[in-house]
Amino acid sequence: MDADVVVVGAGPVGLFLAAELRLGGIRPVVVERLEQPAAERKARGIGVLATEALTRRGLGPQLAAAHEEGMRDFARDHGSSLGHFANIHKILPDEDRPRTHIWQPELERLLADHAVGVPVHRAHRVSAIESEVDGVTAIVDTPQGEQRFSAAYLVGCDGGRGKVRSLAGFGFPGTPPLLRTIAGQVRFEGPVPPAGRYPGGTFLHGGSMAGVTESARDGEPGGPVTPAELAAAIRRVTGEDVVVAQVRDSRRFADQARQADDYRRGRVLLAGDAAHVHSPSGGQGLNLGLLDAANLGWKLAAVVRGEMPETLLDSYFRERGPAGAAVLRNTRAQSALLAPGPHVDALREIVGELMDLPQANRYFSDLLSGVRERYEFPYPAEEPVGLHSPEKSLVDDDGRITRLSDHTRTGRGVLVLDPESRDLAALAPKRVEVVPVTNTESFLLRPDGVIAWTGGEAELKGALDTWFG
Ligand SMILES: Cc1cc2nc3c(=O)[nH]c(=O)nc-3n(C[C@H](O)[C@H](O)[C@H](O)COP(=O)(O)OP(=O)(O)OC[C@H]3O[C@@H](n4cnc5c(N)ncnc54)[C@H](O)[C@@H]3O)c2cc1C
Repeated sequence: MDADVVVVGAGPVGLFLAAELRLGGIRPVVVERLEQPAAERKARGIGVLATEALTRRGLGPQLAAAHEEGMRDFARDHGSSLGHFANIHKILPDEDRPRTHIWQPELERLLADHAVGVPVHRAHRVSAIESEVDGVTAIVDTPQGEQRFSAAYLVGCDGGRGKVRSLAGFGFPGTPPLLRTIAGQVRFEGPVPPAGRYPGGTFLHGGSMAGVTESARDGEPGGPVTPAELAAAIRRVTGEDVVVAQVRDSRRFADQARQADDYRRGRVLLAGDAAHVHSPSGGQGLNLGLLDAANLGWKLAAVVRGEMPETLLDSYFRERGPAGAAVLRNTRAQSALLAPGPHVDALREIVGELMDLPQANRYFSDLLSGVRERYEFPYPAEEPVGLHSPEKSLVDDDGRITRLSDHTRTGRGVLVLDPESRDLAALAPKRVEVVPVTNTESFLLRPDGVIAWTGGEAELKGALDTWFG
């Protein structure tokens, strides 16, 4: 075997997964078709759960450093610093659980540094896969000709148009595009109509960013958006002629919503956009994809180390499948609210009014962040078990204060024990760090930050057995 796991794609999800696998003590290798990291500024932020996942691995300071500038750019381009649902910018920030505004290329640089020590082979394009009972081989086109990379498992983190999904025979059901958007950093000459909704679509314009969202059409061209193309789209939507002198940093995207029918076929798994595509409304793709990586990384490492049975991998789709479906649902709802027409205008007004109610505002915030989504476990348990833990302060017996994330960098589980439960420490296996505290009730944290137990000794034994063997 050339590695324990071949990760296809050095996008954010592939890089984070590779780092997680390495933290789990196994040997991943990454193959990436691009010669250089992509400069395209797709995502401009990551959600609460992804921010917490990276903070658990010690990347909090880097995220905080990027956030300020990212936030400024967001407010400039969107005309508001508040979060939005279908461009209705009213969602108040969750002060206790912040998201991070960071441009995707910067995030990828940070993750590449974090994955230090993992071999990343660039200009390597996977063209075929051979799956066997005890391993899988990627056939890779490289500048030196065809090469073969064999491993125990292969994970397709090769994006929405990735090949691994079809090569391995996954289904990818879903809905075709309703809307398409073209946008970029634009220099106009002369007058520009006001931004907003028009009968034919939406004209987006804030700071130097401008674009158009309108009904999807057949034969969408590829490549960068040209000035003439954008001017024609603005004319279609607003009825006004504009002179577009320049379009930089352009993007075009649609809102098809599709999800793989499983995330594992034998020794081939999917994570990130390879497993689910949807509109970027609300900026949720990376929250979803990085959490796939967090969920899969420690499980796959434990199986490869031989400490856990392969059935542990069944919990990956059981937990992450519903998370993906939830994002498809809310992005479809956002697309419905972004469609042109007076009926939708009326619906948007009503949704906007609902968002003024504090409870409803919180509902939309939680919907986009996913913080209320609970994993179903194979043992009975009540909240907060199954939820991702927020960052917390922990006070030890001597009054010293640490953060929960100070204990999670090693990628092990964490058993936090209050003074009444200290004898339970004896149950903790090697891959679980015991942290005695005085300021919170006992809980068990999986390596992906999910609360796996609170309560009594019998339940703890069951939880440790389920997740750590
Ligand atoms: C305009 C826009 C705005 C967005 N804004 C946000 C946002 O604000 N927040 C958010 O969370 N998400 C946002 N998203 C979504 C986000 O960009 C994606 O969810 C994210 O890129 C997914 O990461 P990934 O690693 O799964 O896939 P990708 O980033 O697509 O990476 C896949 C990698 O695999 C490589 N690859 C493909 N095929 C092969 C092959 N055969 N062999 C080897 N390598 C291969 C590719 O070159 C690429 O590097 C936005 C998307 C768009 C289009």
